[in-house]
Amino acid sequence: MDIRSGQKLAWENKVAKGFNTTDVALEFGLLYGEVAEAFDAWRRGRAELGEELADVTIYLLSLAQMTGVDLQGEVEAKIAKNASRVYRRLPNGTMVKDRARTDP
Ligand SMILES: [Mg+2]
Repeated sequence: MDIRSGQKLAWENKVAKGFNTTDVALEFGLLYGEVAEAFDAWRRGRAELGEELADVTIYLLSLAQMTGVDLQGEVEAKIAKNASRVYRRLPNGTMVKDRARTDP
């Protein structure tokens, strides 16, 4: 499944079940809740980590649909942008974008 298909399927399920389709702030809150559940599953070494990460993805896909974002296109563009960036390491070990060698 590609991201675009997943976005469509997540939205169709949301509509079919009568879940939130209009309240963007609520959807952000629910997404944060799923991130917290995933973190807790990881921290406690629970087998549900994968399912919780799937929940995070499903809420993110739905939020993209709700706000009119083509997440597949955005992810592809961002991955290409990130790949073109050049980083340098500061003396303290932190990696920072080398603006002189990175295209705007
Ligand atoms: Mg969950």
